Amino acid sequence: MKGRTKKPPVPSVKEDTVRHAIMALLAGEAVSALDISREVRIPEREVYGHLEHIQRTLRATGLRLQVVAAVCGECGFVFHKRARLTKPGKCPVCRSEHISAPLFFIGESVD
Ligand SMILES: [Zn+2]
Repeated sequence: MKGRTKKPPVPSVKEDTVRHAIMALLAGEAVSALDISREVRIPEREVYGHLEHIQRTLRATGLRLQVVAAVCGECGFVFHKRARLTKPGKCPVCRSEHISAPLFFIGESVD
């Protein structure tokens, strides 16, 4: 009787499906994390975990997760050296919060 109440294991199939959907989006055009969350219907904060995973798995292939750096809408500062994938909160130069979201796409590795 008790054996039936056990919860199913980690839904790895669904995770895979989500990741594939994200990769399909990234292969088509440059998209923001918000675009991805809307298309795949997952919370934006979960998108970053998937992107990091995709980044790691792509390393073995000739492809790479390319990032179009976020830009400050006030002074034009470009967040080139940002290691994290999330959107910056504030511009370090002018303190503006008017910052465009970074965009992601899958492209050929340059190195
Ligand atoms: Zn700025």
